[in-house]
Amino acid sequence: MSKGLIYKLVVVLVLLSFVLAACGAPKASSDAKLVGISMPTKTSTRWISDGESMVKSFESLGYQADLQFADNDIQNQLAQIENMVTKGAKVLVIAAIDGSTMSDVLKKAHDAGVLVISYDRLITKTENVDYYATFDNFGVGVIQGTQLLKGLGVTDGAKGPFNIELFGGSPDDTNAFYFYDGAMSVLQPYIDSGVLVVKSGQMGMDKVGTLRWLAATAQARMDNLLSAYYTDAKIDGVLSPYDGLSIGILSSLKGVGYCTPELKCPVVTGQDAEVASIKSMIAGEQTYTVFKDTRALAAQTAKMVDQALKGETVDVNDTKTYNNEVKIVPSYLLTPISIDITNYQKELVDSGYIKAEDLK
Ligand code: BGC
Repeated sequence: MSKGLIYKLVVVLVLLSFVLAACGAPKASSDAKLVGISMPTKTSTRWISDGESMVKSFESLGYQADLQFADNDIQNQLAQIENMVTKGAKVLVIAAIDGSTMSDVLKKAHDAGVLVISYDRLITKTENVDYYATFDNFGVGVIQGTQLLKGLGVTDGAKGPFNIELFGGSPDDTNAFYFYDGAMSVLQPYIDSGVLVVKSGQMGMDKVGTLRWLAATAQARMDNLLSAYYTDAKIDGVLSPYDGLSIGILSSLKGVGYCTPELKCPVVTGQDAEVASIKSMIAGEQTYTVFKDTRALAAQTAKMVDQALKGETVDVNDTKTYNNEVKIVPSYLLTPISIDITNYQKELVDSGYIKAEDLK
């Protein structure tokens, strides 16, 4: 055989092997198992990051993702989830608006053999939830309480008394209670000893909760607190459980003259490391936030789903804490990180979570 003929034969064989491989390969888009991802809202950037990271994580494991945001409307979320089941989703990953509203739709899903993952927020009052992927929510509250003490100088021995006010998250989200309880586990002894004073006397989630985590609600409550209790006194610190609320609270404070050279901002906490709050931190306003790396949560969730569908042991690290009123949901808790002006660059920018230009 001539050299030319051999060369041609090799080329034909190589091409043929490509064609055969293409025919035999799984058709990624049509054969891949469908995962329905239901996020509560786009008003907070964290849920957008969660959604995007989850699509990436699931696709990299060979799944197909259907990502929906529910506009903080419970009926909308239920309809979206029902639709995912109708479309043949094999898995549902849900961050519920109200964790107690899912019982009927999840019964249908489970009857159809769908795997259900409670994402970040616990789904309650149903047995039809298989796993929970979240952060150490009580730990988030402990960080927030500790930040408040640190910002006030109490951890360095300052005795005050310091005036503080407390804000809680949405009472239909179990996380809000864990955050509040975690923070109070740190703050209560100092309230009892008089180092911290809650001038309004408003304590407990029934008094300090903020339905649907709405910034406007927190801002209005802060307006009322300032006019009722702080016309003759200064407020030194505010426990805020979420960056959106912190920004609303700071607007209210600025409205009555705080955050100026004459009257500095009180210590204000937060959560989620949202861009607006990091900018506020750089401007010397919001003091702290808590970073929960949604990329890591998404990757952990996809890993747990993949393990469950393959019949492997699912990676959980907590089988005691999250009682959803019907059962204890096996959970994986990630670790939250305290953020202030000294470490935002390293944790958020250098890690690629926030782009440096977004902070300009
Ligand atoms: C999440 C927080 C978030 C809050 C408001 C909670 O369930 O755990 O990260 O700040 O919802 O969106």
